[in-house]
Amino acid sequence: MSVATIAPPPLELLAMRAPRYTSYPTALQFDERIGPDDAVRALRQSNDDWLPAPLSLYLHVPFCHSNCFYCGCHRKVTRNVERMAAYANDLARELGQRAALLDADRQTVQVHFGGGTPNHLPSADLCRVMETLHHHYAPDEQADISLEIDPRLVEGEEPALWASLGFNRISIGVQDVDDRVQRLINRVQPAEQVARCVEQCRHTGFESINFDLIYGLPAQSMQSIDATLDFVEQQRPERVAAFGYAHLPDRLRAQRAINRVWLPDATARLALRNRIEQRLLAAGYVSIGLDHYALPSDSLARAHREQSLHRNFQGYTTHAGCDVIGFGVSSISRIGDTFAQHSKSIDDYHTAIDQGLWPVVRGYRQCDDDRLREQIIMALMCDRPVDLLALGRQYGMDPNARFEPALEAIQSMAPRTQPLVVCESGVLRATPEGRPFLRLIAAQFDAFASAQRGHTNVAV
Ligand code: SF4
Repeated sequence: MSVATIAPPPLELLAMRAPRYTSYPTALQFDERIGPDDAVRALRQSNDDWLPAPLSLYLHVPFCHSNCFYCGCHRKVTRNVERMAAYANDLARELGQRAALLDADRQTVQVHFGGGTPNHLPSADLCRVMETLHHHYAPDEQADISLEIDPRLVEGEEPALWASLGFNRISIGVQDVDDRVQRLINRVQPAEQVARCVEQCRHTGFESINFDLIYGLPAQSMQSIDATLDFVEQQRPERVAAFGYAHLPDRLRAQRAINRVWLPDATARLALRNRIEQRLLAAGYVSIGLDHYALPSDSLARAHREQSLHRNFQGYTTHAGCDVIGFGVSSISRIGDTFAQHSKSIDDYHTAIDQGLWPVVRGYRQCDDDRLREQIIMALMCDRPVDLLALGRQYGMDPNARFEPALEAIQSMAPRTQPLVVCESGVLRATPEGRPFLRLIAAQFDAFASAQRGHTNVAV
């Protein structure tokens, strides 16, 4: 069924809140009962597994050149090159410290530099960190090594330098090409500047380019989103992520510069989301999970077809079952059933690295019930069918009795003629009408959902 034939959902549904579920439980459940010793123990245990999990490394660069008002990332606006060099030095030291805990045969299949703005790090510092990473972790030849960039900061031959450091994927923040929208979010970047950056990356031979778009921004309209999608079609990145803007000015100070009255209302927001989906599907992209789109030849689209798509802190991934190791401030590791998050303070991070300590300040250890719920929630978020009967056998429970309230809650959200999910022979799957609401559907299986509702944004 095409998006156009779906009846509008009730307004209450558009106002409901739910997490983005890049983990289960979400980071809102982390606390200080988990510390550095727990992380070390989890890593040693994972070394001892009969077949140790491959590694996915995430490096957080918290610095930005300027402040985008919509941003919810952990970042610091600075142009102080000494400060950035000192941080890069700590990242390199941390790479060495963590490698000392890992068995030499651990395989690295994914590396992601996120932020903040990783390409705001001076090139010499980025080189130092990458050389250290290659020295200690020697990523697989086929590894995905990706860099988030701000196209406004790309200088000279930098894309060629990134390629020489091993990066093979680039993610570019585009958001919306309309000048008025860009001024209201304090991120003015002419489309020509982005196009130049794409051309350089293509010329250098990057395998995959991702565009991040955002809907629900101030003054955004069908016209501005259409112009943005015209630009996407011209540039044809392999992947497009279309995130809903989360307006949380009580928690995110920069967002106080955005007047609520400039924002599209709930119905307009859904219409923007649906327009993005319609146009990308018409342009030949495949929809991936909640908010991603990929060309059919892209590895994400293949994983989606083969039902092997997974989700971690960086979003959708083709690498299932990895131990994720986070480096830098605020980063989160997930090793086996243990989550461990670093301090958000650059000074505290530096002190811990100086003392040779893992800068973990909070975390969570999953129990059996969490693992069961995680399997359901992540499958739903990846738009995969959930075999409740098989899970019942695996966890020794009656799925009908256990999840009846969740299924009833989902059924009550939409008219019977257009359900958000169907459950046939014990297999649960989201319908086309349900896809925009995957977060809400998943939240019905979240044991902590009601406690964290005040900390999450609208789910569409
Ligand atoms: S959107 Fe990116 S560049 Fe802008 S403030 Fe956030 S992290 Fe920095």
